[in-house]
Amino acid sequence: MLREALLPLPDLADVDLVDTVAAKAATVRRLLRDVARDYAPAVFANSFGAEDMVLTDMIWGDGIDIGIFSLDTGRLPAETYELMAAAEHRYSRHLEIFAPRHELVQDFISAYGINGFYNSVEARKGCCHARKVEPLQRALNGKQAWITGLRAGQSQTREKLKTISFDPANNLVKISPLADWSEREIWVYLRANRIPYNALHDHGFPSIGCAPCTRAVAPGEDIRAGRWWWESPETKECGLHLIDGKLQRIAKPEVGAEKTAVA
Ligand code: SF4
Repeated sequence: MLREALLPLPDLADVDLVDTVAAKAATVRRLLRDVARDYAPAVFANSFGAEDMVLTDMIWGDGIDIGIFSLDTGRLPAETYELMAAAEHRYSRHLEIFAPRHELVQDFISAYGINGFYNSVEARKGCCHARKVEPLQRALNGKQAWITGLRAGQSQTREKLKTISFDPANNLVKISPLADWSEREIWVYLRANRIPYNALHDHGFPSIGCAPCTRAVAPGEDIRAGRWWWESPETKECGLHLIDGKLQRIAKPEVGAEKTAVA
């Protein structure tokens, strides 16, 4: 889906739009409570994008019994850490953080170089494996369901996203409560409820991941065009998400694999 514009403040005077968002939010809240009741222990994987702040507000703000964790890849932008702190302060809660295993990061750097992810899809997925996928697997261990802030409109790899699906890669139920929300609806919720959000959104970053793998996009560009922008659209998943039964599976980098020059 193309980004409508970089920062069109949603028109909170649009009564129909605000009503639609309120109705959708009520549905999501019911779903989250049902998940907390029927799939305990359930967790929310929070990467602090705009969608994730909607879910953070619902879970922490309403006191829903769903754990929230984040993957600290070690390469996140400073603005994301600032938002993490702002969210902890607003809701008087502390995040659960999962960091990469240092030996996997060291192996990747030894094999590919500190920024070797620029040099091939294989290398990039190797970095994502070490810094995201392996920590995610630890975070999900023993859980019955995990919740994500994915939306179907975020990219062509997510068009077939379902609200509730089974995630065979992690062997648990995966729930994407905002699957049918538009970007504009997300921003109506955030603005109407004065929810903190990542400052990079104000500088042309609709989708934010690790700092070296995220750039700003222009109006009219795809929402996720700024993520791994040097790759073709169909490879742009980090291996955390399986959509429509297809997972861009991450291969653990082989120690001693051929080194490539840093881009
Ligand atoms: S997004 Fe980039 S820096 Fe982050 S884990 Fe993936 S390849 Fe590594």
